[in-house]
Amino acid sequence: MSNLRFKAVEEAFKKKAVAVSAPDSLTSKYYGKYVFNKEQMAKYLSKETLKVLTNVIEKGETLDRELANHIAAGMKMWAMELGATHYTHWFQPLTEGTAEKHDSFIEYSKAPGSPVIEEFSGKLLAQQEPDASSFPSGGIRNTFEARGYTAWDPSSPAFIIDDTLCIPTVFISYTGEALDYKTPLMKSLNAVDKAATEVCQYFDLKVKKVYSYLGWEQEYFLVDESLYATRPDLMLTGRTLMGHESAKNQQLEDHYFGSIPTRVHAYMKDLEFEGYKYGIPLKTRHNEVAPNQFELAPIFGETNLAVDQNLLIMSLMKKVARRHGFRLLLHEKPFAGINGSGKHNNWSLGTDTGVGLLTPGKTPEENLQFITFVVNILMALYKNNALLKASIMTAQNAHRLGANEAPPAIISAFLGSQVSATLDKLENSTSDEAIVMDTKQRMKLGVAKIPEVLLDNTDRNRTSPFAFTGNRFEFRAVGSSANCASAMIVLNSIVAAQLTEFKKTVDAKIEKGATKDKAIFDVLKEYIKTSKPIRFDGNGYSDEWKAEAVKRGLDNETSVPLIYDAYLKPESIKLFESVGVFSKRELHARNEVKWETYTKKIQIEARVLGDLVMNHIIPVATGYQSLLLDNVYKMYQVYDKNQAAKLSAHNTGIIEEISERIATIKSKTEKMVEARKIANKIDDERKKAIEYHDNVFPYFDEIRYQVDKLELIVDDELWTLPKYRELLFVR
Ligand code: ADP
Ligand code: MG
Repeated sequence: MSNLRFKAVEEAFKKKAVAVSAPDSLTSKYYGKYVFNKEQMAKYLSKETLKVLTNVIEKGETLDRELANHIAAGMKMWAMELGATHYTHWFQPLTEGTAEKHDSFIEYSKAPGSPVIEEFSGKLLAQQEPDASSFPSGGIRNTFEARGYTAWDPSSPAFIIDDTLCIPTVFISYTGEALDYKTPLMKSLNAVDKAATEVCQYFDLKVKKVYSYLGWEQEYFLVDESLYATRPDLMLTGRTLMGHESAKNQQLEDHYFGSIPTRVHAYMKDLEFEGYKYGIPLKTRHNEVAPNQFELAPIFGETNLAVDQNLLIMSLMKKVARRHGFRLLLHEKPFAGINGSGKHNNWSLGTDTGVGLLTPGKTPEENLQFITFVVNILMALYKNNALLKASIMTAQNAHRLGANEAPPAIISAFLGSQVSATLDKLENSTSDEAIVMDTKQRMKLGVAKIPEVLLDNTDRNRTSPFAFTGNRFEFRAVGSSANCASAMIVLNSIVAAQLTEFKKTVDAKIEKGATKDKAIFDVLKEYIKTSKPIRFDGNGYSDEWKAEAVKRGLDNETSVPLIYDAYLKPESIKLFESVGVFSKRELHARNEVKWETYTKKIQIEARVLGDLVMNHIIPVATGYQSLLLDNVYKMYQVYDKNQAAKLSAHNTGIIEEISERIATIKSKTEKMVEARKIANKIDDERKKAIEYHDNVFPYFDEIRYQVDKLELIVDDELWTLPKYRELLFVR
């Protein structure tokens, strides 16, 4: 092992588990301590302020300056008691993660005696103007009109990190366009609330609001910090650009649900403690399939809050990892040849009357509402499968989807045999059979009974990107590093648009004289027929499915830059405008950002790859080759020609192989650099991204192939980069 690598491995093995124990063993004692939640509000705000604020949060009423001042005063008192000295607006720009700019509470005091005082007014709470010129905006805001502003979202509670009060905000340009994820997310939640509530009223007039719920499952890798520090590719790109498969990886499937390694367990405990302080209801933790891969999941919650909590936990995960000598990898595919990381988005809708709209009803027949929502979701998915795929696609996630590993780059929905059977029955029945009235003249399902607990809850299809799992859909194609909002914006928007159309169609039929139940039945029946191509219960990983999906007309594009085109199709623009989520200008701007980000990611990877092969791989391989040459040379000094040739056969073979591989690496790298130069000259972001995808990216695997072969033959002592077996098994 090379000196550097040996040291890193030695360091890694020396690390012991540092168990951080919670200050109080009772989770409920510190749960939510650092969040300005309802309990804290009740303590620090007057009854009147709290009442008005509750209306702002629940009914979307506007926040006036006086109210903001009252809230700010209470918040400041709470925050200072917990040691906060600074505050920041915490927002979600179109990069990954969150952004913050801290300001201290201090102001010059006008009173004599004390030079400064702590101040935090309603104005500062409600709005901030970060110099936002360096955030991606797709040209909405160039550097000359750099101002954008952040505005408080009272529906997400403020929290304290270290010494800073963090206020969740939206981030908008001066001309009113969203520059973030939170703004359109909130709009999409409103849209789905409105559309779904109207549909619910066919069944229950008491429903006044529908919530979108999200329960994310976050997968991640941990790598020892010392090893990480000696892998420039991991440090700069988040993934390994080279590295031969470890002889043992995940083939024995002994890691999944296995006992959690001690150091990792300490990490998880510490992380949970941190999460609980912020009221993140972490529930599940376990080993994942790949070595050194793990998962955590909270109890699901309202989507806007769940998205914030996921972003917060991702940053806590990074921080806590360092306390334990780990580095956190959220990249969707840090290691070739083993599973990548996703973030399943468990999504459902529920009413303010406490009914889960994706939960089969208590009495088997009362499932018409449930079926109505399921069928509309299928329709939304069928019509917008390309768009939904675009919402989760990134340079990183492309390594999971449609590449060597599944799920495929095709969106389909899995329902399970019971719900499928019900839809089939409905499709083949008459309206009199399908929908009947109960004694109170409420509509209920006449055909097929759906048991309250679905059997195939447990035997579910793991290969489906969008699977019904008993009381929710699980959208599995979301990437581990992504902001869930991107997928949630599209999903809620397409479902909102679909429900609105459904309502319009049903109402039109009623107007023409059809009864309500017949109108609903007719439309559902037609939808079941039309949306059939999106339903797929078979093996989504198979090649047959890819061929079949093409026949069904589902989108199967795998090129990331082209996948983004789905956002700009006329029907997509119309849809987003109709639900009030994005304007055409915003959609164009956001796509510019997507293409630019894609290009930059590939560009950085290409550079790192080029550097590594030139100053790590080729020198090391050449060094080893020289040693072999030395040996061969000496053979000829000691033995006669024939004997020397025989004894050196193995080494001369390797010498030649090294030369050949180096030559290939060199020429491919040069070609890659040339391709980059051509791409860089292109101004149009879309075209540039396509060029990077088509003509730069393909060199990565070709170069890597040669490097990984060299790794197998070069003396282990000389190899500088930690190998997969070390990165994946040291913990
Ligand atoms: P899995 O069996 O899929 O691995 P997990 O327990 O890891 O399940 O995670 C399931 C996630 O789904 C959790 O976050 C859970 O709270 C969430 N969930 C459960 N029911 C619903 C629902 N009705 N709506 C949204 N999310 C839900
Ligand atoms: Mg899980």
